[in-house]
Amino acid sequence: MVRKIIEISKEEIEKQIKIWREFTEKQEKDKFILNPDKETVERLAKGVLTNEKNKEMKFCPCRMIMSDKEQDKKLVCPCSFKMQKTWKEKGECWCSLFVKAK
Ligand code: SF4
Repeated sequence: MVRKIIEISKEEIEKQIKIWREFTEKQEKDKFILNPDKETVERLAKGVLTNEKNKEMKFCPCRMIMSDKEQDKKLVCPCSFKMQKTWKEKGECWCSLFVKAK
């Protein structure tokens, strides 16, 4: 099987980061921010956008989709990460894209 190489441009990555940044700005309680590590955020944006091109939805780049539509929808970024153990214990989503504001 020949795998198609997915190209993600710098502009697409910046656009995705802007969407996430605006999302964090809308939070009113239990505030969170984008991980201050730019490289991490860019890598995750690339992963989400690659999933969108390959799998038609912006699935979490750190988790496996199971081909069960209802279950897989829960893995679209941003997910309900405040329910995750990593949020409760470390104040981060599973991928460390979003982190609790101090
Ligand atoms: S764990 Fe983080 S990166 Fe993954 S889908 Fe949820 S919010 Fe997005």
